[in-house]
Amino acid sequence: MVILPPDTFNRGILILLRDWRSALRKLFLLITLLLLIGLVSGQTAWVIAGGLACYLVYTMFQLRRLHQWLHSPQAHGENETPPESYGLWGDIFDGIHQLQRRERDSRDYLKSIIDRAQESTAVLDIAVVMINRHGQLEWWNPAAERMLGLHRDHDQHQAVVNLIRQPEFLDYFDAGDYNRPLTLPAPVNREMMLEYQITWFGDGERLMLVRDISQLHRLETMRRDFVGNVSHELRTPITVITGYLETLLDNRDSINSRWIRPLEQMYQQSRRMENIIRDLLVLTQLETKSVSRQRTAIEVQALMREVARDAEQLYESKKQTFSISCSEAFWLQGNRNELYSALSNLVFNAAKYTQDGGQIQLICARQPEGMTVEVRDNGPGIEEKHIPRLTERFYRVDESRSTDTGGTGLGLAIVKHVLARHSASLKIISRPGEGSRFICQFPEQRILTAPENAS
Ligand code: ADP
Repeated sequence: MVILPPDTFNRGILILLRDWRSALRKLFLLITLLLLIGLVSGQTAWVIAGGLACYLVYTMFQLRRLHQWLHSPQAHGENETPPESYGLWGDIFDGIHQLQRRERDSRDYLKSIIDRAQESTAVLDIAVVMINRHGQLEWWNPAAERMLGLHRDHDQHQAVVNLIRQPEFLDYFDAGDYNRPLTLPAPVNREMMLEYQITWFGDGERLMLVRDISQLHRLETMRRDFVGNVSHELRTPITVITGYLETLLDNRDSINSRWIRPLEQMYQQSRRMENIIRDLLVLTQLETKSVSRQRTAIEVQALMREVARDAEQLYESKKQTFSISCSEAFWLQGNRNELYSALSNLVFNAAKYTQDGGQIQLICARQPEGMTVEVRDNGPGIEEKHIPRLTERFYRVDESRSTDTGGTGLGLAIVKHVLARHSASLKIISRPGEGSRFICQFPEQRILTAPENAS
């Protein structure tokens, strides 16, 4: 449909109105003339009837020409020309002709835009796939054929989950929450690593962008393997060194007193190194192990009780108060060891950084979009500028404080990884002097109502 600009449209209406008035005037003159002829000849009725019949024949003739022209192939072709005519009919033919020309121009313009869009997406390295509101393929570019193995002839209007059949993709596609991209091997070639990113648009339609990240993935794997191997290789020597230092310090009576302080420092540092290696190995495992699809129900309150008890024992000398409150009983679907590791890191941190006699609260609550597990303390708090970086590896707010407390700088990185593996995220709210809140946000699909295999 062509939308005329308002001024063109108004001008068109004015011209038509002018011609319409002149046509009415002509008709009026014809009737007056016929009336005169009729009066002179004494056959008024016959003359008027004859005149009007001629006018009707003329009008029918013009209508027939218009009808024929509109239905002739020339009317829709490149060089269509309207039939020659005068007065009101001439204007009608010209008006329709102009409308047709404008519609053809805008059609050509739209077509050229679509052609250019298609040409540019054809040279893209990224696969672009349009998916309709029923989850079926509507359009895709050549890169999508290469990466996903789509075939133009028989995959049009096929459900995307029938063509990319990996269970992880199915979960990602059905969840409808596309904040994070999904990384998976290509369905056509397991060596190729793809990153899927879906965005909603229009009326429930989805645009899927797929990038080949094989190169990046290879480098990332090399980095991970390197860290994993180094940590693994260092574990035994460090354990041996720590063991000997421990034995020496157990027999401090037989050691020259000048060596006691250096030995103590060596022992403290080798314990720290042991902790770093342990945390690095945990991180490597979290990064390499694929997420288990097994649905194990974990009772959140029981897990909180266990972690609080362990922290209380570990930091017994600090005489802190641990409290647990839950709005209702929750079971989470996930890996118990990993969730224990995440929650214990948060609770041990709270105990570690909060002053003696401080309060540590473990709170779980239902939220509109899922549930939260929160660890709250009334410790020293954290300056705002540090908060976005806390989950980076080895990032510490206060190097000396972390070293004193035996921190590795890897605890919150582990928390972040565990939560990501459970489709959850970490929110940190803190201000110096006002304590800290570490909130784990779990989505609705992770909450189990009826606990199967509860642990
Ligand atoms: P670390 O092993 O040093 O504790 P983390 O990754 O667990 O490393 O924590 C990163 C930093 O965040 C810590 O060095 C500490 O400065 C800060 N931090 C973590 N938890 C708390 C808390 N509850 N209160 C104050 N600071 C905290």
